[in-house]
Amino acid sequence: MDDEVPLRAVVIGSGVGGAAAALLLSHAGIPTLLAEKERRLGGSAAAVERDGFRVDTGTHMLCRGEDGPLGDVLRRVGQVDAIAFRESAEPAALCFAGAARGGRAGAERGGRVALPADLRRLAASALDLARALELTPLEAARAARLLAHATAMRDVDLAACDDVTAEAYAARFLPRPAAAARLGGLLGLPLLLPGSEASAGEALLASRQLARSGRQSYPEGGAARVPDVFCRLARELGAAVRTGTAVRRVLVRDRRVRGVELEDGTTLSAGIVVSTAGLASTVAELVGEPHFPEAYVARVRALTPQPRQAQVKIGLRRRLAAAGALAGLGGGAGAPALPFYCVAPTRFDPSLAPPGHELLCACAVSGASGGASPGAPAATVDELLRALAGAVPGLLSEAVFVDGSPGDERGPGAELAAGTAQTPGQVGRARPAVYTPVRGLYLAGRAAGGRGAGMELAASSAMECVDRILVDLGRDLGAPAPPALIDIAGDLLGRVAASTVSWVARPRG
Ligand SMILES: Cc1cc2nc3c(=O)[nH]c(=O)nc-3n(C[C@H](O)[C@H](O)[C@H](O)COP(=O)(O)OP(=O)(O)OC[C@H]3O[C@@H](n4cnc5c(N)ncnc54)[C@H](O)[C@@H]3O)c2cc1C
Repeated sequence: MDDEVPLRAVVIGSGVGGAAAALLLSHAGIPTLLAEKERRLGGSAAAVERDGFRVDTGTHMLCRGEDGPLGDVLRRVGQVDAIAFRESAEPAALCFAGAARGGRAGAERGGRVALPADLRRLAASALDLARALELTPLEAARAARLLAHATAMRDVDLAACDDVTAEAYAARFLPRPAAAARLGGLLGLPLLLPGSEASAGEALLASRQLARSGRQSYPEGGAARVPDVFCRLARELGAAVRTGTAVRRVLVRDRRVRGVELEDGTTLSAGIVVSTAGLASTVAELVGEPHFPEAYVARVRALTPQPRQAQVKIGLRRRLAAAGALAGLGGGAGAPALPFYCVAPTRFDPSLAPPGHELLCACAVSGASGGASPGAPAATVDELLRALAGAVPGLLSEAVFVDGSPGDERGPGAELAAGTAQTPGQVGRARPAVYTPVRGLYLAGRAAGGRGAGMELAASSAMECVDRILVDLGRDLGAPAPPALIDIAGDLLGRVAASTVSWVARPRG
């Protein structure tokens, strides 16, 4: 660290990525300020109160709970019990519009396939799944082989699939294009991408994680509990966590981070800035392209951002979903298949709604070009609602509220930083790195680094980012924070806070 730049970190954004980074940096003894421009914490994993329901702003389906990266963050700070991950008593189900009816016991209610409660037996559902996907018996056997492969693949085999799409991978087993498109569509769902755009390596990794974990889980108290708890623990370790505090610019000189300028004009010197504000906006708006090598700027400009998704939240006066999560293909006869998924958080934690009520959070998958197939228009809230109504009979007549957030307007999720879509050429070794050509500037969250899906991707990226920072500082990754460093850094922060940066000491939002 240069003499004139203090050992202090500013983290931009309080989504899962920023909250995890702030917690890990504080735990490493680095004085940290987390600045969140919104009035509430959590980014795309925030929540709002509505008619007695606690409603997620995103649509969160997690598979590994405390065994995955969210638990790893807590383990690293010795707080593994700070969040309870609950499982649903009911298995998940796959739903298909216009799918073959009947079939074995699993296929029911017009194309609804109940998955085994223990998802490690996922491949055993292949026959029901194949019927619902309208596969021939030979195709069904091949689809079963694909699912078995996905469960058993080694990392190196998965990485070899990074640069093909999920649909192209499915076509290796299912040469008939319609069959490959439907199976590819399901594989791409965890990445919120259509099968024609999702990286097969990343999609298969998500399927493998789901199958190996053997369950789905959801945080007690709602998905927003994850960034809330990370921020609370970071504060307990001395971090300042400020909402309503937008970073206007990252200050850079001689290709070295010097600090940040806030929206109100205050400046704060810091040697480390972790941005979760999206790669393109960090480079173009917060830092400025002239501070980066041309090749880096060209690469960032060429990246495909994560497309916006239509979302809907439904409060029901009765419990109708009969599953912890639904996923499937809507769209109906003649229309293009619409990949969608729907989580029923109240199946995991009934306290998220008034007694006997149910909350559904659903999301339709569109690609960079709009719809789920190349050139198709973006999925609309109406189409998503039609797919849901087909999967959950009686849905609309029992609704207390139906809140749609179109993907092409600035809804709760749309205001957030764009992630880097997990498409071929943007995952694995080709994923943007957590470090940048500007010394002291790092990226975390869904923009760079990490593997997996959603909140788990953001958490794994944050761990990768903080590991990199510690290595750059010459610190031993395994070692606890040296007390002397904490003292020195705390003292430094205290002195600077008292003199020049009064906002650090303002009441925390
Ligand atoms: C429709 C939808 C469906 C999803 N489904 C799932 C799912 O099924 N499973 C799952 O695990 N995850 C899911 N997620 C994704 C998951 O919520 C996100 O990937 C993850 O939480 C991203 O975290 P992040 O920290 O990278 O970014 P974000 O949550 O976007 O946080 C970035 C934060 O930075 C703040 N910020 C930006 N610029 C500035 C600035 N200049 N100054 C200060 N603050 C700034 C923003 O306000 C925001 O709070 C979904 C999200 C959406 C929207």
